[in-house]
Amino acid sequence: MNQAQPKTTWRNVKSPTPMIAQYLEVKESQRDALLFYRMGDFYEMFFEDAEIGASVLGITLTKRGKSEGDDIPMCGVPVHSVDGYLARLIKSGHRVALCEQVEDPAAKKQRGGKGPLKRAVVRVFTPGTLTEDELLSPRHHNYLAALGRSGDTTALAWADMSTGDFLVREITDTGLETLIAQVDPSELVVPNKFVTPDWLKRSSVCLSEQALALFDSTTGRKMLESFYQVGSLDGLGVFSRAMLSAAGALLGYLETTQIGNMPTLGRLQTVANADYMEIDPPTRRSLELTRTLAGESRGSLLHAIDKTVTAAGGRLLAERLAAPLVDAEGIVRRHELVAWFLQHMDMCEQVRQKLTGLSDMERIMARLSMGHGGPRDLLGLANGLSSASEIVTIAAKVRALAEPSQLREIYDAIMAPAPLADQIGPALADDLPLLARDGGLVRRGYDLNLDEICDLRDESRRLIAALQQRYSTETDVASLKIKHNNVLGYHIDVRANYANRLMQAEQFIHRQTTAQTVRFTTTELVEMERDLARASERVLARELEIFDQLRGTILSQAGAISRAAQALAVIDVACAAAVLAVMTNQCRPEIRNNVDFQIEKGRHPVIESMLDGANAFIPNDCNLGVDNNLWLLTGPNMAGKSTFLRQNAHIAIMAQSGMYVPAETAAIGIVDRIFSRVGAADDLARGRSTFMVEMIETAAILNRATDKSLVILDEIGRGTATYDGLAIAWATLEHLHEVSACRTLFATHYHELASLQVRLHRLRTFSMQVREWQGSIIFLHKAVAGSADRSYGVHVARLAGLPTPVVQRAEEILDQLEAGQHGAVDTEAMNDVLPLFDRSSAGGNERPLNTSASDPVVDALDDIYPDALTPREALELIYWLKEMRVAKASKT
Ligand code: ATP
Repeated sequence: MNQAQPKTTWRNVKSPTPMIAQYLEVKESQRDALLFYRMGDFYEMFFEDAEIGASVLGITLTKRGKSEGDDIPMCGVPVHSVDGYLARLIKSGHRVALCEQVEDPAAKKQRGGKGPLKRAVVRVFTPGTLTEDELLSPRHHNYLAALGRSGDTTALAWADMSTGDFLVREITDTGLETLIAQVDPSELVVPNKFVTPDWLKRSSVCLSEQALALFDSTTGRKMLESFYQVGSLDGLGVFSRAMLSAAGALLGYLETTQIGNMPTLGRLQTVANADYMEIDPPTRRSLELTRTLAGESRGSLLHAIDKTVTAAGGRLLAERLAAPLVDAEGIVRRHELVAWFLQHMDMCEQVRQKLTGLSDMERIMARLSMGHGGPRDLLGLANGLSSASEIVTIAAKVRALAEPSQLREIYDAIMAPAPLADQIGPALADDLPLLARDGGLVRRGYDLNLDEICDLRDESRRLIAALQQRYSTETDVASLKIKHNNVLGYHIDVRANYANRLMQAEQFIHRQTTAQTVRFTTTELVEMERDLARASERVLARELEIFDQLRGTILSQAGAISRAAQALAVIDVACAAAVLAVMTNQCRPEIRNNVDFQIEKGRHPVIESMLDGANAFIPNDCNLGVDNNLWLLTGPNMAGKSTFLRQNAHIAIMAQSGMYVPAETAAIGIVDRIFSRVGAADDLARGRSTFMVEMIETAAILNRATDKSLVILDEIGRGTATYDGLAIAWATLEHLHEVSACRTLFATHYHELASLQVRLHRLRTFSMQVREWQGSIIFLHKAVAGSADRSYGVHVARLAGLPTPVVQRAEEILDQLEAGQHGAVDTEAMNDVLPLFDRSSAGGNERPLNTSASDPVVDALDDIYPDALTPREALELIYWLKEMRVAKASKT
């Protein structure tokens, strides 16, 4: 019998070695993280951690010592390349605790030299607490969120440690899913025993459970007061208990993961529920705002419209698109800025040139404040600040009456920390090391004291060089060299055949013999080396002092630098919107305080960007107003209904994000909530069919849409039997018209619904135009008044490559169905009228089907009742038939 191997776990080690005992003590405090235990040049993992690490990282699992007779599994990664390994572990959902040697060997000697060097966890890496460039994606925020609660009120706080953003917002329980979808955090801190809703379990957010005490609102207040070093929070804003609970828990979590090395976060900003357009998760998904349904960035709205040239600009645009504004003033301010750059395209292009390559100052500041920043970050910041003032010089040259007043505020914000560039730049050497402790970062001439000790060090080096010359002459060995390595330090190196000459001289002390060379030292050389080491130490100490001073000066202006970085991102986004407007012929939307939605010649920004040729996309109008706010759109498959629906949702979102829109003109009454139900997918993981998902989402729309909302519904009810579907679509349409009274675009294949316009006075019918030509159809992609009379599904089936006999048969059946159109479908009667499918006709077809009784295609066709198929099922069938065809072709 196969017995399970007993697992060597860290939890039951008896009589451990001193090193393993130390490991266990540290591991006890980091139970839910993989422990990276520093040993020399490696971080080692032991026990279960080693097994997980080896399997995720694909590294060799070895062993070190034994516990109760079993090997202790071990694996390790080199210190110098730890970032790549950390990134992979974190991506696969793990937390990593970094345990360093915190005692130097000399101190160990002093305390008696017993046991291993002291070690302690210096940082816990979790998905939401990263600041390293290598672990982050430059154009995306990396948010850590925390859920707080007080009584019946819930709040979410979220912060990006890599940029310093820190926000909090109160929410209803149902609003949590929407807010999480908007913020898209990498990690969510929740109390122990939190009942995780199903949607959260399935999301990609990493959940970190923490003790309930961390979420106490009184402790939260204290945490905030001590973090901002204020006696009272009154000066910072008004925070409810739930907000204090969430923001306090977030700070508390940072304390436990950053271990005394807290990041610099900006002022905690409260977000009101009514500040942004509400976009629920299904709408976000179906509109493919930042990711396509397949999870890709390419093909999303953001990807199609993002012309920003800096990472911070990219992040700001994504943020704006995820949370469009609802206050007219704020929206118009953003449009004003775009208009300004659009009027001055030459200047705009010059500004963009300067912005290109601008360092990511927000992320540099985060690294410096956390103590991870290096000399190159100082240079990045200095260069960034001087480019920033050049940008202002270029932009401010253009003066005109119509200049938006906000520009001055933006320029002032950018210029405020600019003088810092002159303090930092001249201090830095040309060729900067990666780490400050590598030395060589300060430019000669910057600091008198440093110059002096550098001279001393260089003098020691010169003396050693001169010594080489002297020894070479004295021993008459021209090839004698003084070399340096990590083991021997400075030493005299001669080829083996000359070694005797040195062996005989008293002053040379033999150190090592290798195959080729023999190595010596002298008391003189040892002394010189000691002098050199002392001088080098002093140089490094002074350089580190200067580095810390510069870092301190920068951090003392953290607020101003962060405001400047944000202002630059605002400029980048506005310039990018102007450039996009020119490139794709967009217009400035007029923002109204009513319920208009009047778009002339609107286009779909994503599909348009994918089509070849300037005029390949056919523009369409959409005019919704107080008297005609419900459009019923019919038309064949493939005619462009979904495209039209989505393009109008995109236009609303772009307009309220502060962008121009792809249309000739656009006038938009502010949309408070947008709902889109375009295209559905089975949610089998949740045990919900396509139809069930569709009904749940429709219910949410009918319950939440207000008269200021925009609702986009595509083929509702098609996932069930014809009459059930028609009935549901009908009732939904009536509810939207009579109760929600919101702006609605409703695409359907149920042409019967058009008759409702007699009773629903704000309903207008439109259809996507097609032209029949020589037995086939041409899609004109034009929305015209009136309802379509046919679906042309059979034509589309032919286009998709359904075998000709099937298409012909479908046409026959369709004729019969249309003959008795308004009655119930009487398949029995049709069976009498319709002759049986003629298998022989399939034989002469250019795509012959195997007509033997066991052919799955023929069997499937025999079982088809076209009148019981929904359009989606028909399409799926077509795909299946195509697959079968391909499989067959490859066999023959
Ligand atoms: P179905 O009912 O089968 O879902 P549909 O009517 O919703 O079809 P869409 O999916 O919107 O049709 O459009 C089908 C294809 O037609 C699009 O992928 C696009 O390539 C093209 N198309 C749609 N609208 C336009 C347009 N206005 N101009 C140019 N091409 C368009």
